[in-house]
Amino acid sequence: MTRTVYVNGDYLPEDQAKVSIFDRGFLFADGVYEVTSVLGGKLIDFAGHVRRLHRSLDELQMASPVTEDELLAIHRELVRLNDIDEGLIYLQITRGAADRDFVYPKDATPTIVLFTQSKPGLADAPMAKVGLKVLSIEDQRWGRRDIKTVQLLYPSMGKMMAKAAGCDDAWMVEDGHVTEGTSNNAYIVKGNTIVTRHLGHEILSGITRTAVLRFAREAQMVVEERPFSIDEAKAADEAFITSASAFVMPVVELDGQAIGTGKPGSMTARLREIYLDEMRKAAV
Ligand code: PMP
Repeated sequence: MTRTVYVNGDYLPEDQAKVSIFDRGFLFADGVYEVTSVLGGKLIDFAGHVRRLHRSLDELQMASPVTEDELLAIHRELVRLNDIDEGLIYLQITRGAADRDFVYPKDATPTIVLFTQSKPGLADAPMAKVGLKVLSIEDQRWGRRDIKTVQLLYPSMGKMMAKAAGCDDAWMVEDGHVTEGTSNNAYIVKGNTIVTRHLGHEILSGITRTAVLRFAREAQMVVEERPFSIDEAKAADEAFITSASAFVMPVVELDGQAIGTGKPGSMTARLREIYLDEMRKAAV
Protein backbone atom coordinates (compact mmCIF):
# COMPACT_ATOMS: atom_id res chain seq x y z
CA MET A 1 0.00 0.00 0.00
CA THR A 2 1.41 3.42 -0.94
CA ARG A 3 1.47 5.78 1.99
CA THR A 4 -0.82 8.78 1.78
CA VAL A 5 0.60 12.00 3.23
CA TYR A 6 -0.85 15.46 3.77
CA VAL A 7 0.73 18.60 2.27
CA ASN A 8 -0.84 22.06 2.38
CA GLY A 9 -4.44 20.93 2.06
CA ASP A 10 -3.97 17.85 -0.14
CA TYR A 11 -3.88 14.14 0.62
CA LEU A 12 -1.35 12.65 -1.83
CA PRO A 13 0.67 9.49 -2.46
CA GLU A 14 4.03 10.12 -0.76
CA ASP A 15 5.97 10.26 -4.05
CA GLN A 16 3.78 13.10 -5.32
CA ALA A 17 4.10 15.34 -2.25
CA LYS A 18 6.37 18.33 -2.84
CA VAL A 19 7.73 21.31 -0.92
CA SER A 20 9.67 24.28 -2.33
CA ILE A 21 13.49 24.35 -2.16
CA PHE A 22 13.00 27.88 -0.74
CA ASP A 23 11.05 26.57 2.21
CA ARG A 24 12.53 28.05 5.39
CA GLY A 25 12.23 24.69 7.10
CA PHE A 26 14.76 23.40 4.55
CA LEU A 27 17.02 26.50 4.54
CA PHE A 28 16.90 27.63 8.20
CA ALA A 29 15.27 24.81 10.20
CA ASP A 30 12.60 27.48 10.65
CA GLY A 31 9.83 25.11 11.59
CA VAL A 32 8.27 23.17 14.43
CA TYR A 33 6.94 19.65 14.74
CA GLU A 34 4.99 17.19 16.85
CA VAL A 35 4.88 13.40 16.94
CA THR A 36 1.66 11.85 18.20
CA SER A 37 1.34 8.13 18.81
CA VAL A 38 -1.58 6.02 17.64
CA LEU A 39 -2.78 3.02 19.65
CA GLY A 40 -5.80 1.01 18.59
CA GLY A 41 -6.29 3.48 15.73
CA LYS A 42 -6.71 6.38 18.19
CA LEU A 43 -4.58 9.41 19.02
CA ILE A 44 -2.73 9.49 22.32
CA ASP A 45 -2.81 12.83 24.22
CA PHE A 46 -3.71 14.82 21.11
CA ALA A 47 -4.75 17.83 23.21
CA GLY A 48 -1.31 17.94 24.83
CA HIS A 49 0.46 17.92 21.48
CA VAL A 50 -1.76 20.69 20.08
CA ARG A 51 -1.12 22.82 23.17
CA ARG A 52 2.65 22.48 22.80
CA LEU A 53 2.49 23.05 19.03
CA HIS A 54 0.81 26.41 19.60
CA ARG A 55 3.36 27.35 22.22
CA SER A 56 6.22 26.52 19.81
CA LEU A 57 4.52 28.51 17.02
CA ASP A 58 3.96 31.50 19.34
CA GLU A 59 7.60 31.52 20.44
CA LEU A 60 8.65 31.80 16.78
CA GLN A 61 5.89 34.32 15.89
CA MET A 62 4.52 31.85 13.39
CA ALA A 63 0.85 31.39 12.57
CA SER A 64 -0.87 28.03 12.28
CA PRO A 65 -2.26 27.42 8.79
CA VAL A 66 -5.05 25.24 10.24
CA THR A 67 -7.46 25.33 13.17
CA GLU A 68 -7.34 22.78 15.98
CA ASP A 69 -10.45 21.05 14.64
CA GLU A 70 -8.89 20.82 11.18
CA LEU A 71 -5.71 19.41 12.68
CA LEU A 72 -7.64 16.68 14.49
CA ALA A 73 -9.58 15.87 11.30
CA ILE A 74 -6.33 15.60 9.28
CA HIS A 75 -4.74 13.30 11.87
CA ARG A 76 -7.81 11.06 11.87
CA GLU A 77 -8.07 11.01 8.09
CA LEU A 78 -4.40 9.95 7.78
CA VAL A 79 -4.97 7.16 10.32
CA ARG A 80 -7.95 6.00 8.26
CA LEU A 81 -6.33 6.31 4.81
CA ASN A 82 -3.18 4.49 5.93
CA ASP A 83 -5.01 1.98 8.10
CA ILE A 84 -2.84 2.69 11.14
CA ASP A 85 -3.54 0.57 14.20
CA GLU A 86 -0.30 1.29 16.08
CA GLY A 87 2.14 3.90 14.91
CA LEU A 88 3.07 7.56 14.80
CA ILE A 89 1.87 10.70 13.09
CA TYR A 90 4.50 13.30 12.31
CA LEU A 91 3.36 16.91 11.88
CA GLN A 92 5.59 19.74 10.72
CA ILE A 93 4.76 23.40 10.21
CA THR A 94 7.36 25.74 8.75
CA ARG A 95 7.30 29.48 8.11
CA GLY A 96 6.95 28.65 4.41
CA ALA A 97 8.83 29.54 1.22
CA ALA A 98 10.43 32.94 0.71
CA ASP A 99 13.52 34.43 -0.93
CA ARG A 100 16.46 33.54 1.33
CA ASP A 101 16.87 36.20 4.01
CA PHE A 102 17.54 35.89 7.76
CA VAL A 103 14.68 38.29 8.52
CA TYR A 104 11.31 36.57 8.84
CA PRO A 105 9.33 37.18 5.62
CA LYS A 106 6.11 39.17 6.09
CA ASP A 107 3.86 37.36 3.66
CA ALA A 108 5.04 33.74 3.49
CA THR A 109 2.32 31.09 3.73
CA PRO A 110 3.23 28.44 6.33
CA THR A 111 3.91 24.95 5.00
CA ILE A 112 2.15 22.09 6.74
CA VAL A 113 3.11 18.46 6.24
CA LEU A 114 1.87 15.34 8.00
CA PHE A 115 2.76 11.70 7.47
CA THR A 116 2.21 8.42 9.27
CA GLN A 117 4.62 5.70 10.34
CA SER A 118 3.03 2.32 10.92
CA LYS A 119 4.61 0.58 13.94
CA PRO A 120 2.82 -2.65 14.74
CA GLY A 121 3.71 -3.73 18.27
CA LEU A 122 4.62 -0.19 19.37
CA ALA A 123 3.06 -0.60 22.82
CA ASP A 124 4.57 -4.05 23.27
CA ALA A 125 8.17 -3.14 22.42
CA PRO A 126 10.62 -5.89 23.50
CA MET A 127 13.00 -3.16 24.72
CA ALA A 128 10.59 -2.44 27.60
CA LYS A 129 11.52 -5.82 29.06
CA VAL A 130 15.26 -5.44 28.42
CA GLY A 131 15.97 -1.77 29.01
CA LEU A 132 18.21 0.74 27.26
CA LYS A 133 21.95 1.21 27.51
CA VAL A 134 22.74 4.89 27.63
CA LEU A 135 25.91 6.89 26.98
CA SER A 136 26.44 10.31 28.54
CA ILE A 137 27.56 13.05 26.15
CA GLU A 138 27.99 16.80 26.35
CA ASP A 139 24.86 18.81 25.53
CA GLN A 140 25.90 20.97 22.59
CA ARG A 141 22.44 22.05 21.43
CA TRP A 142 21.19 25.62 21.21
CA GLY A 143 19.66 27.40 24.20
CA ARG A 144 15.92 27.21 23.39
CA ARG A 145 15.27 23.49 23.66
CA ASP A 146 11.80 24.23 25.01
CA ILE A 147 10.73 25.11 21.45
CA LYS A 148 10.15 21.93 19.45
CA THR A 149 11.99 22.97 16.29
CA VAL A 150 13.06 20.67 13.45
CA GLN A 151 16.70 21.55 14.21
CA LEU A 152 17.68 18.02 15.28
CA LEU A 153 21.23 17.61 14.04
CA TYR A 154 22.94 17.41 17.43
CA PRO A 155 20.44 14.85 18.77
CA SER A 156 21.07 12.87 15.59
CA MET A 157 24.85 13.10 16.15
CA GLY A 158 24.29 12.06 19.78
CA LYS A 159 22.39 8.98 18.69
CA MET A 160 25.28 8.08 16.37
CA MET A 161 27.79 8.54 19.22
CA ALA A 162 25.65 6.22 21.34
CA LYS A 163 25.48 3.58 18.61
CA ALA A 164 29.25 3.79 18.03
CA ALA A 165 29.76 3.09 21.75
CA GLY A 166 27.44 0.07 21.64
CA CYS A 167 24.61 1.96 23.39
CA ASP A 168 20.98 2.57 22.48
CA ASP A 169 20.75 6.26 23.26
CA ALA A 170 22.55 9.20 24.85
CA TRP A 171 21.80 11.43 27.85
CA MET A 172 23.08 14.94 27.42
CA VAL A 173 24.94 16.70 30.20
CA GLU A 174 25.36 20.42 30.78
CA ASP A 175 27.18 22.00 33.74
CA GLY A 176 27.47 18.58 35.35
CA HIS A 177 23.77 17.78 35.16
CA VAL A 178 21.64 15.71 32.83
CA THR A 179 19.34 17.77 30.63
CA GLU A 180 17.49 15.05 28.70
CA GLY A 181 17.89 12.20 26.21
CA THR A 182 18.42 12.80 22.49
CA SER A 183 14.66 12.56 21.90
CA ASN A 184 13.18 11.92 25.33
CA ASN A 185 13.08 13.14 28.92
CA ALA A 186 15.35 11.46 31.50
CA TYR A 187 14.50 10.22 35.01
CA ILE A 188 16.10 8.39 37.89
CA VAL A 189 14.40 6.63 40.81
CA LYS A 190 15.71 6.29 44.37
CA GLY A 191 13.41 4.53 46.80
CA ASN A 192 9.93 5.98 46.21
CA THR A 193 11.28 9.20 44.67
CA ILE A 194 11.43 10.04 40.97
CA VAL A 195 13.88 12.75 39.95
CA THR A 196 13.72 14.54 36.60
CA ARG A 197 15.06 17.88 35.49
CA HIS A 198 12.79 20.89 36.07
CA LEU A 199 11.28 22.67 33.06
CA GLY A 200 13.02 25.67 31.51
CA HIS A 201 14.71 26.68 28.27
CA GLU A 202 17.18 23.78 28.73
CA ILE A 203 14.76 20.93 27.96
CA LEU A 204 11.64 20.16 26.00
CA SER A 205 8.51 19.95 28.09
CA GLY A 206 7.56 16.40 27.10
CA ILE A 207 3.86 15.67 26.67
CA THR A 208 4.57 12.21 28.07
CA ARG A 209 6.54 13.77 30.96
CA THR A 210 3.54 15.86 32.01
CA ALA A 211 1.21 12.85 32.00
CA VAL A 212 3.68 10.46 33.68
CA LEU A 213 4.47 12.89 36.51
CA ARG A 214 0.73 13.32 37.12
CA PHE A 215 0.20 9.55 37.25
CA ALA A 216 3.25 9.14 39.52
CA ARG A 217 1.89 11.68 42.02
CA GLU A 218 -1.55 10.06 41.88
CA ALA A 219 0.13 6.71 42.69
CA GLN A 220 1.73 8.30 45.82
CA MET A 221 5.22 8.35 44.33
CA VAL A 222 7.33 11.36 45.28
CA VAL A 223 8.39 13.58 42.36
CA GLU A 224 11.37 15.93 42.53
CA GLU A 225 11.83 18.23 39.53
CA ARG A 226 15.49 19.21 39.81
CA PRO A 227 18.83 18.62 38.07
CA PHE A 228 20.71 15.36 38.72
CA SER A 229 24.26 14.32 37.86
CA ILE A 230 25.60 11.23 36.09
CA ASP A 231 27.06 10.06 39.41
CA GLU A 232 23.65 10.36 41.09
CA ALA A 233 22.11 8.44 38.18
CA LYS A 234 24.69 5.65 38.49
CA ALA A 235 23.80 5.30 42.17
CA ALA A 236 20.04 5.24 41.48
CA ASP A 237 17.77 2.21 41.94
CA GLU A 238 16.15 2.64 38.52
CA ALA A 239 16.23 4.95 35.54
CA PHE A 240 13.92 5.52 32.60
CA ILE A 241 13.02 7.81 29.75
CA THR A 242 9.70 9.05 28.38
CA SER A 243 8.57 10.13 24.94
CA ALA A 244 5.44 9.95 22.80
CA SER A 245 6.89 7.03 20.84
CA ALA A 246 8.70 5.10 23.62
CA PHE A 247 6.10 5.85 26.35
CA VAL A 248 7.96 4.88 29.56
CA MET A 249 11.13 2.94 28.74
CA PRO A 250 13.60 1.55 31.29
CA VAL A 251 17.30 2.46 31.27
CA VAL A 252 19.48 -0.28 32.74
CA GLU A 253 23.01 0.88 32.01
CA LEU A 254 24.77 4.23 32.00
CA ASP A 255 28.31 4.61 30.62
CA GLY A 256 28.82 0.85 30.94
CA GLN A 257 27.69 0.71 34.58
CA ALA A 258 24.55 -1.16 35.63
CA ILE A 259 21.81 0.91 37.28
CA GLY A 260 20.28 -0.84 40.30
CA THR A 261 20.04 -4.54 39.51
CA GLY A 262 20.83 -3.94 35.84
CA LYS A 263 17.26 -5.01 34.99
CA PRO A 264 14.21 -2.81 34.32
CA GLY A 265 12.89 -1.52 37.65
CA SER A 266 9.47 -2.13 39.21
CA MET A 267 8.50 1.56 39.54
CA THR A 268 9.34 2.02 35.86
CA ALA A 269 7.27 -1.01 34.87
CA ARG A 270 4.34 0.22 36.96
CA LEU A 271 4.48 3.70 35.45
CA ARG A 272 4.60 2.26 31.94
CA GLU A 273 1.54 0.15 32.65
CA ILE A 274 -0.43 3.01 34.23
CA TYR A 275 0.54 5.37 31.42
CA LEU A 276 -0.52 2.98 28.65
CA ASP A 277 -3.78 2.04 30.42
CA GLU A 278 -4.82 5.61 31.18
CA MET A 279 -3.82 7.02 27.81
CA ARG A 280 -5.60 4.30 25.87
CA LYS A 281 -8.76 5.11 27.83
CA ALA A 282 -8.44 8.83 27.02
CA ALA A 283 -7.37 8.35 23.37
CA VAL A 284 -9.33 10.15 20.65
N1 PMP B 1 13.02 15.86 24.80
C1 PMP B 1 13.38 15.91 23.50
C2 PMP B 1 14.64 16.60 23.14
C3 PMP B 1 12.58 15.31 22.51
O1 PMP B 1 12.93 15.37 21.22
C4 PMP B 1 11.40 14.63 22.90
C5 PMP B 1 10.54 13.94 21.88
N2 PMP B 1 10.01 14.80 20.96
C6 PMP B 1 11.06 14.60 24.26
C7 PMP B 1 11.90 15.22 25.18
C8 PMP B 1 9.82 13.90 24.73
O2 PMP B 1 8.69 14.65 24.41
P1 PMP B 1 7.27 13.93 24.19
O3 PMP B 1 7.00 13.18 25.46
O4 PMP B 1 6.33 15.05 24.00
O5 PMP B 1 7.41 13.04 23.01
